[in-house]
Amino acid sequence: MSRMLVWLRSDLRLADNPLFHFSTPPESLLCVFVLDDAWLDPLPGLEASRIGSARLRFLWESLIALRGELLKRGSDLLVRIGSPVEAVAELAEAHDIDEVRVRADAGWEEWQASVQLAERLGSQVNLTCHQSGTLLDEASLPMAVEDIPPSFSAFRRKVERRWVIPDAVPAPVTLPSWPANAPRGFPPLGKICSSAAVWAPDERGGFAFSGGEAAGWARLDHYLWESGAVARYKQTRNGLVGTDFSTRFSPWLAHGCLSARQVLEEVRAWEARHGANESSYWVIFELLWRDYFHWAARQEGASLFGERELPAPSEGFRAWCDGRTGVPFVDAAMCELSATGWLSNRARQNAASYLVRDLGGDWRLGAAWFEHCLIDYDVASNWGNWRYVAGVGRDTRPRALDVHDQAERYDPDGAYAALWLVPSLCVHREVP
Ligand SMILES: Cc1cc2nc3c(=O)[nH]c(=O)nc-3n(C[C@H](O)[C@H](O)[C@H](O)COP(=O)(O)OP(=O)(O)OC[C@H]3O[C@@H](n4cnc5c(N)ncnc54)[C@H](O)[C@@H]3O)c2cc1C
Repeated sequence: MSRMLVWLRSDLRLADNPLFHFSTPPESLLCVFVLDDAWLDPLPGLEASRIGSARLRFLWESLIALRGELLKRGSDLLVRIGSPVEAVAELAEAHDIDEVRVRADAGWEEWQASVQLAERLGSQVNLTCHQSGTLLDEASLPMAVEDIPPSFSAFRRKVERRWVIPDAVPAPVTLPSWPANAPRGFPPLGKICSSAAVWAPDERGGFAFSGGEAAGWARLDHYLWESGAVARYKQTRNGLVGTDFSTRFSPWLAHGCLSARQVLEEVRAWEARHGANESSYWVIFELLWRDYFHWAARQEGASLFGERELPAPSEGFRAWCDGRTGVPFVDAAMCELSATGWLSNRARQNAASYLVRDLGGDWRLGAAWFEHCLIDYDVASNWGNWRYVAGVGRDTRPRALDVHDQAERYDPDGAYAALWLVPSLCVHREVP
């Protein structure tokens, strides 16, 4: 019998989470999440922390929800703030832990943290890394990680030729008991970041994301079963105004409140009832994009973030962040991003392309600003998409968009620009 510590990161769910599945249950289980305090520091020159209020609030909601589910099963959750490696190592030592489990994340920093933790724990404690959250795992990936092709199309063709996605696993019914004398609970959000505690999305977006597994399933139920919007996804996915033109699953997927396999299985169940169509296929196609960026991020390691030193932000870059470029389509997108923490894929592509191609801005500054703002920030999808738009790294084909043509095509009556261009509400800078 062992004493186990589960170190949670972007995998805040009980179902389909290998960290909570045991062939032999341990004697005790300590579940820990550590908010890296470095995420709260302003980035040099950017006047913005790595995690903004919108994401921090969603994260806290997800943690609160997860704690509820853990308590129902006889366990609990401890949340700390500080250096994750140090905090986990100290807890492991204090509670005589013999196994630490963590998700094998795609991000380079997360990988480095696991390596540092292994060194810090030494040979007395077994650190095991478990891959989860993506459709594919290393066994079902039809190529070695080193051989992930440069283009998405080549990746997709190979995957679809040998389509073997493991089943999602149900949540455990009970969990091992909490270790004697181990601390529990977490600090109030208001003490960490007062603006996150009171953060609310601008009502013009018409949608409020709330964190947690149950909220993620509620959105899944709505999009598939209640509204049936999935049946029209292929036609609506480039929308800009409204709540059901795309799935909006991204924040729950990014925090791990939902896994991609759970979404896939639900789409398959919908297809079994209503018949598959090109829209239901296209949702799965988009999930494959997510897998592609996750597996590509593992292959790229630290180079995902670019090699050169980050330049100081220019006035043009600041105007872009604040929605003051003078191009209504782009400015509306940047206002929506700041005011809601979310942006449609069409608007993300245009905002990114405009910064890189029209303003000659550094894509890494744009990616860092998105990292700060987005509720659904995910290291592989964000930095991978930015590299893709900028045409750097693995796929260097030019991807410049003419934002004026795009505005004419996707916002012909200017309704999107009109919705978000109310100047007094646009400038939204926060310094934690
Ligand atoms: C510059 C830029 C930065 C981005 N940063 C992020 C990010 O940090 N986090 C993130 O989840 N997505 C990111 N994306 C991808 C995409 O824009 C969002 O996943 C999508 O807009 C989320 O809305 P949705 O859930 O309604 O997506 P849907 O259109 O409904 O798609 C369903 C799901 O498929 C996945 N998906 C769709 N498109 C992509 C894509 N291009 N790359 C990866 N996954 C995709 C997402 O998980 C999404 O939830 C970025 C795209 C760009 C161009």
